[in-house]
Amino acid sequence: MKNKQTTERYTLADLEKWREIAGDIEPPIRLGVFGDPVAHSLSPQMQNAALRTCEIEMQYARFHIRPNELRSALLILRRLDFVGINLTVPHKIAAFTQIDQADESATRTAAVNVIRVRDEKLIGSNTDGEGFLRAIRSEFSVDVRDLRVMILGAGGGAGRAIAWQCALENCERLVLVNRTLEKANALAEQLRPFFMGPRVLGPAARLEAVAWEESAMRAQIGDIDLIVNATPAGMNPGDPSPMPARLLAPHHMVFDCVYGPSKTALLRSAEEAGARGANGLSMLLHQGALSFQIWFNCEAPIEAMRAALL
Ligand code: NAP
Repeated sequence: MKNKQTTERYTLADLEKWREIAGDIEPPIRLGVFGDPVAHSLSPQMQNAALRTCEIEMQYARFHIRPNELRSALLILRRLDFVGINLTVPHKIAAFTQIDQADESATRTAAVNVIRVRDEKLIGSNTDGEGFLRAIRSEFSVDVRDLRVMILGAGGGAGRAIAWQCALENCERLVLVNRTLEKANALAEQLRPFFMGPRVLGPAARLEAVAWEESAMRAQIGDIDLIVNATPAGMNPGDPSPMPARLLAPHHMVFDCVYGPSKTALLRSAEEAGARGANGLSMLLHQGALSFQIWFNCEAPIEAMRAALL
């Protein structure tokens, strides 16, 4: 007898005996997201809506894979009849060194959020940067190229992809903030060629890497339009804001890559400061639609995906 999918979340142990665990599930699970944590991920409801709309007989599931399990999980994935997976926190950078091929988007960021499985090989891409770009356009009706952007958490998988996208768009100004400053410095060196031309009037440098300190953020914030949180701060309801509320002003736009049912502390601070804010749902939608396109080589049913998220 065929089953519907019943398990909310699978693990490495399940992947190790996948045919036994999932052989009966109908439609079969052939896509998923690997993360730790992963319970928060809304990708399954969004991608399953897309699969149903396109009448593709398969399902997308959550996999709780810890950092020390990623290598084994990816080895098993090569042998299963999966179409592909998404990677979420904290796997995007580690996965880059464990795949067989990377396209241009993954190579330049050295981070992967989408894998396609083909002939037992894992091919990595990164749709976070383009997803971010589309999200900013739809949330704030502006183009990144016209903005002075500050990224909090520029050393992580999402932060790097967003920084690269801002550089490719030739944004007015880019400030990279990271807890581990060396990572922000190294990224700034890679991106420097994009910022050689003089676009901003005034003395502020177009590209800077700064420490994760209030004084350093304060020194930059007057020359910033868009603040992006690309750290996991906000994923848990009690998390403090990654940026002190007193630094925010009404002219700021605040984009929190974190998404969830309630407002993060950062978005509450933005509201109190009279600034515009948006959570990461629209980025999730657009990076997910681009993932779907990579897996199936066809346009994603974006309205069905959006409806499933809302
Ligand atoms: P990641 O690769 O693990 O990167 C985490 C980043 O946050 C690093 O820069 C890290 O700094 C920094 N960080 C972690 N804890 C911190 C703390 N307590 N204080 C200050 N900085 C801290 O994670 P990721 O995959 O980039 O994801 C980051 C966040 O973006 C997650 O919440 C994820 O859900 C979200 N995201 C959302 C979307 C979307 O579609 N909406 C897409 C991608 C990511 P160090 O370098 O010093 O470790």
